[in-house]
Amino acid sequence: MGEVKSALRSHVGRVRSVNEDYGWVGQLQGGLSAAIVADGMGGHLAGEIASGLAVESLVQSLREWKEDLSAKESEERMRDMIRKANEVVFNTASLNKRYRNMGTTVVVALLNEKEGLIGHIGDSRAYRIRDGQLSLITDDHTLVNELAKMGQLTPEEAQHHPRRNVLTRALGTERDVAIDIRRIDWMPGDQLLLCSDGLSGMVDDEALLSTMTDPSLDLEQKAERLVELALAAGGEDNVTVALVGYEPDEASGGAGGSANGSAGSGPDGGANGNAGSGPDGGANGDAGSGSNGGAEGMPA
Ligand code: CA
Repeated sequence: MGEVKSALRSHVGRVRSVNEDYGWVGQLQGGLSAAIVADGMGGHLAGEIASGLAVESLVQSLREWKEDLSAKESEERMRDMIRKANEVVFNTASLNKRYRNMGTTVVVALLNEKEGLIGHIGDSRAYRIRDGQLSLITDDHTLVNELAKMGQLTPEEAQHHPRRNVLTRALGTERDVAIDIRRIDWMPGDQLLLCSDGLSGMVDDEALLSTMTDPSLDLEQKAERLVELALAAGGEDNVTVALVGYEPDEASGGAGGSANGSAGSGPDGGANGNAGSGPDGGANGDAGSGSNGGAEGMPA
């Protein structure tokens, strides 16, 4: 088993004056990790309120999560959790004129050591990065995506369509809402990227992938870099990035490979310092690895 890390960045962007996105990452009981991105809408302060309320409600529900993810009921449980967040936002909007019609997207990921559940409404996205490939897990609930699926727009046209941010579903705008739940497998070496359309609408897949697979960056730096890319592309919208990385054991140089390799190996509990190690300060110095961390790019 590897170690799970997470990173979160949110930025107002270069055009808007208010950040209506909201993100959260964290560890839960039972060794679960979770990440959430919500992108609010509704004008004035309402969008911010909607995404904030939704995330707050979801985090509260996640903290009470006790089931094993592999159980069938876990999908229903996640649906209930999102329904509850929907109700909170919808009720607040109904009770207060200022918040009328507010709503939010939401994408939430809940992960254990071998699989994950992704719940989603709207056009915030989840991608899994594995073996140098970026896979989109969520299906945008947008008008242009519907048209693209019916063959009326090419994916390219959809990507640049002026009305590409018109949603067909949002959390909090109706009493009931359809929720997409997907189950993914999840193993050491995998990374998960959740984002608002302020990232996915501004930065192409190639740049997302090359950032996520850049061995010189740790997870925090990747999150930072993704936000910088969105800003450099114009930063037309709020941008939020939540990353989860499932780091392989004893990952030192990033070159990896180690993922499964060490199966029967020693007691991996120990702090890296390896059997028989003796001298070399234990700095991940692992069999085979040869030159120690950092040496790579050094001028000869
Ligand atoms: Ca947005």
